This record gives sequence, structure tokens and C-alpha cells, in this order.
Amino acid sequence: MKTKIVTIGASDSPESVEEKLACAGIIIRQGGLVAFPTETVYGLGGDALNPESSRKIYAAKGRPGDNPLIIHIADMAHLDRIVSEIPGNARKLAEAFWPGPLTMIFRKAAIVPYQTTGGLDTVAVRMPVHPLARLFIRKAGGYVAAPSANLSGKPSPTLAKYVVQDMDGRIDMIIDADGAEIGLESTIVDVTGEVPMILRPGYITQQMLSGVVGETDMDVTIYDSSSPQTPRAPGMKYRHYAPKGELVIVEGEPQKVVRYINEQTALHEAEGKRTGIIGTQELLLEYHASIVKNAGSRSDADAVARQLYTFLREFDDEDVAYIYAESFSEAFEDKGFGQAVMNRLLKAAGHKIVRV
Ligand code: AMP
Ligand code: MG
Repeated sequence: MKTKIVTIGASDSPESVEEKLACAGIIIRQGGLVAFPTETVYGLGGDALNPESSRKIYAAKGRPGDNPLIIHIADMAHLDRIVSEIPGNARKLAEAFWPGPLTMIFRKAAIVPYQTTGGLDTVAVRMPVHPLARLFIRKAGGYVAAPSANLSGKPSPTLAKYVVQDMDGRIDMIIDADGAEIGLESTIVDVTGEVPMILRPGYITQQMLSGVVGETDMDVTIYDSSSPQTPRAPGMKYRHYAPKGELVIVEGEPQKVVRYINEQTALHEAEGKRTGIIGTQELLLEYHASIVKNAGSRSDADAVARQLYTFLREFDDEDVAYIYAESFSEAFEDKGFGQAVMNRLLKAAGHKIVRV
């Protein structure tokens, strides 16, 4: 399959943007697949109400069939058609955080095919805020099923070039435009129960959610990796975002962390292995490895989130065999956005942590 790459930038007139997205919308309506930017990461879109489109999404990504897709909508009025009820808490959360990086799990309406929900009777819905994403969804008929636009297991793409790397030849169109300012996937909240439950942490934090609905719960597997429970979001049980090299998170007093990482990288490099580091601004000059990525200040979770997946992809391109990352858990113990950053970093590392 030939993949059409369509760039949308500052030089496009509103008419030209409209025309390009109308073409993309027609592809979706005809059962094809289009990758598009959102404020979180790039999505791989298909018609959410067409079982054949969902099947194609799983095939293009190599995604396990039990890992359901998120339906993206652009208008609140469209929600009714795909869910069987809208709980009061969901209305409050939608009012506070939609459009934005929040996904909610509802009981599904019959019109939503099981191919889209991975066989579940519930359905995940999000309303993105990215203006191109919203116009694209409307042009596509209002219901776009979209997981992240990466091959299954790889880091979610925050730049169009990584979508091209993974999806060229596998889908009909890639929209290359600015986006992914947040850099991590949406917060997922199950609103089907009495108390809303967070299934995946993200930019919308527990504190923000509780500020709107009062009490909220969090899936235990998010903060306790030794829990025997299965994650409630099926996708959370898979290893994710894994770079080709071995990634280890190093936790402890800053000077000890630096010493340990420098010792390890010296050993690997003496064996002729390329080694990389994800470090914070505060410690950057103290590292000796050949490749050191600047994750920004320890106190700035937004900056770390924005760059994390790009770093993981760059390490692959740079053929790095061993990667060491500072732990962000202490700096982020306030359970804010840092919790989501640490959640993704732990998954990428397969939970390998060294405490020094
Ligand atoms: P992605 O779009 O690649 O970020 O993946 C979507 C995430 O949403 C995966 O972790 C899914 O398991 C989760 N998800 C989608 N639908 C549901 C649902 N009905 N119930 C629980 N989790 C869901
Ligand atoms: Mg994904």
C-alpha cells in the first residue's frame, strides 16, 4: 500500500487545511486508515463504527485483539449514540476536561462493534482539543477509533517522522503537523462505577479529577507493580514503549546515582557498546557517556513527558545497547503529572530499577 504523507503547516490557508482534512475524512468514511496529530501523541484513526476498519487498525499496528481502541469524538452531542448511559460524574468530568487529554470508559451502545472494544461491553471515549484532530474527526463522520500510531510495543509517536517509520506502507495517509505538546497518552478514567477509577495516569491528574467529582480511585497496578491483579485497562498489561537497548532506572541520592551510572557506562563503553543516559538538567554536566539526553529540570514533569518517547526512539536510531535513566519518582511524589511520567518510564524499562 502506498501511504500518502500530507503536511499541514503555517503556510496553509484555512481553505487548504479544510480541503486536506476533507480528503482524510473521505478515506476514513471509505474504511481506510489515517494517522493524525493530537495534543497527546499521534493517533492511528479508522471509522470506529466499522468493524473492518478496527480490524485493519489491529493489523497495521500488530496489536493484540484484546486491547480495545479509544473512540475520538469532536462534539458532546455525538456521545449519546455510542454509550448506553452518561453517568452524572462523566458529565461533570466532560464539562471540566473535554476537549482535552481525558478518556472515559462508558457502557457501550449496540452500534459500537466488538471489534472496536476488543470484545468488551464498555467503550473508551475521548474528545481531543487539537484543532486539526477535531476538524478531521468531523470530516470523518464523527467517530474515529484511534490507538497510538506506533507499531505495538514501540514508544508512542510524538513526531510525524516516527509515524512514517512505523506505518509507511501500512496505512492510507499520514497527516504531518504540529502536535503532541503533552507527549504522553491520555488519562483513562472508568466512570461506570459509583466512584470513578483511574486506569491509566496522564496529564489530568487524580487531584484534578477529585477536585471535580470528589472521591476517585486508582487501579492498584499503577502504583504497585508487585500487585497480583490484572490491570483493568487491558493495554496496561503489555510491555510498552520498549527501546531496543536495555533500559535501567537508577534511584537514590543524586551523587550516588551519577557515580553508579558513570561506572556502568564506562564498563559498557570499554566493551565497545554504545551507552545512553536520560539525565536532568541539574546533573547533566557530571555524566560521561557518549550520548546524554537532557530531560530538563527535575521539577518540570511537563518537559520530561514531552521528550521521553522521542529519547527512546532516538536511542534506537543511535544503536544504543544500554540506557540509564535517572528516577523521577522522588521529585514527583506529589502524585501529579510526574506519576504518569514514571509509569511510562517503568513500563519502558520493564520495571528494572537499581537502588543505589
Ligand atoms: P492507546 O490508544 O494505544 O493509548 O491504547 C488505549 C488504551 O485504552 C489501552 O490501554 C486500552 O486497554 C484502554 N482501553 C480502551 N478501551 C477500554 C475499555 N473499554 N476498558 C478499559 N480500558 C480500555
Ligand atoms: Mg498505544
